[in-house]
Amino acid sequence: MSPLRPCKVIISGGGVAGLTLAVALDKIGVDYQLLEAYPDIAPKVGGGICFLPNALTIFDQLGFYEDLTTICPPLSNFGFRDPNGDLLSSSDNNWDPVSLCKERYGYAFQWMERSALLRVMYNHLSDKSKVLTGKRIKSVENSEDGAVVTTTDGSVFFGDMVIGTDGVHSSVRKAIVRQAKERGLGSEYMEEDNVTSDFACIYGVSPKLGGMPENCLEFRFNRGSSTLIGNGPPDRTFWFFYKQLDRTYRGTEIPRFSEADLEKVVREHWDEYITTDIQLSTLYETRTEALYTSMQEFVFSKWDLDRMLILGDAAHQMTSILAQGGAQAVESIACFANSLKKVLSDVSKTGRLSAREIHDMFQQIQDMRLPRVRAMLESSNKRQCMDAMVTSELEDLMLNKFPKLVPGIIVERWDETFEQSVFLDMFPVPETLKASWLYCQSHERKTELMRSSL
Ligand SMILES: Cc1cc2nc3c(=O)[nH]c(=O)nc-3n(C[C@H](O)[C@H](O)[C@H](O)COP(=O)(O)OP(=O)(O)OC[C@H]3O[C@@H](n4cnc5c(N)ncnc54)[C@H](O)[C@@H]3O)c2cc1C
Repeated sequence: MSPLRPCKVIISGGGVAGLTLAVALDKIGVDYQLLEAYPDIAPKVGGGICFLPNALTIFDQLGFYEDLTTICPPLSNFGFRDPNGDLLSSSDNNWDPVSLCKERYGYAFQWMERSALLRVMYNHLSDKSKVLTGKRIKSVENSEDGAVVTTTDGSVFFGDMVIGTDGVHSSVRKAIVRQAKERGLGSEYMEEDNVTSDFACIYGVSPKLGGMPENCLEFRFNRGSSTLIGNGPPDRTFWFFYKQLDRTYRGTEIPRFSEADLEKVVREHWDEYITTDIQLSTLYETRTEALYTSMQEFVFSKWDLDRMLILGDAAHQMTSILAQGGAQAVESIACFANSLKKVLSDVSKTGRLSAREIHDMFQQIQDMRLPRVRAMLESSNKRQCMDAMVTSELEDLMLNKFPKLVPGIIVERWDETFEQSVFLDMFPVPETLKASWLYCQSHERKTELMRSSL
């Protein structure tokens, strides 16, 4: 294999997206420098996160899926509950989620502590000196032959490109927007008013509570609010209380919540049963952490300028009910890694990437990703409206029809989600995926298409 063209990527932010990118570049053999604002790369905050087969396949290709399975077993129980916390339908009755998901998509679902995931990814990096903590990016400027990044402590870094995986308040996005404004570029960059919020969420962690099955994911439907709760490792109950806001908020008017707001909402719903035995008050009183935040929804239409590109939450965010925010961040990283590897392997060219090549690559990535993340945002919003039964029609659907349609209706949505998954082109397809229904049928479809085009 001929060597790759030289390239250095500066990664802004070491969350799920930034560390996935670091592991990918490490494995491909592309130079990078990751700059993380916080002093710890895997802080013990952030609650639980559930990953679905689309992200897990990429984690497997990157070589750290095995390590994740040792710290978090697959989800073996699904449940759907009514406003009183009573079961409407559950996996115990007629379906086994682990076998179903593995057969169909190669992987089951897995809850994990966010900090544990970040630690596993970090441990897989071969050269830890490429990750610097306590480096908050202050500015990004374009130079003739690269990008110049300055952090708040005055350090300066040079790279061929800067990838902003620095979350919803991305400094790279701020640099993109500021520079676009200075150049009088179109309103396509001024998208803050396209950020909306219909729901807010209290997410918390409590010690594992009795009265719930092992490794479960349970949804409780309620008018104007909904709950998602899961028992996962290590002996934790992860819980999410979603509340419909009084209206759709936009841009700068989206509320930020204080401790007092959190307390007020919990008190309003204090006696509600989340399961037959567990009330919201129990979750709250046993919490080791709890945060109240608005659920922002957006897909920016412009992700790049010059040598800067934003990926992950910096570019797209959705309600978390379908567990696709982080997964879509991971897919976007896979898409970027595929494109970068392709241009750096082009034997017809030598030397560092030109500004034109970088621009074209960034454009292609956005063209590929935009329809997918927009569809995921829409599905997540739709499902959140269903769980919070925001209309009387949805109330009837969730309480009377939905339970009878499980698991078929769930599997249908999973199929739609995973059929469009993005994987890493440069690494082999994992054996477990090759044996799955998803892979076999997409393989058959591709073969059919090839035959029909002959
Ligand atoms: C309540 C809730 C539940 C969720 N549950 C799920 C789930 O179950 N499954 C799922 O797939 N997704 C879930 N998500 C979504 C998921 O958490 C995000 O989509 C994902 O974390 C995005 O990762 P990211 O790396 O893009 O951004 P972030 O996780 O926000 O990481 C950004 C990083 O950049 C750093 N940073 C910020 N500014 C700077 C700077 N100026 N310089 C340097 N570093 C900087 C930050 O410190 C941070 O480490 C949930 C979200 C919420 C709010």
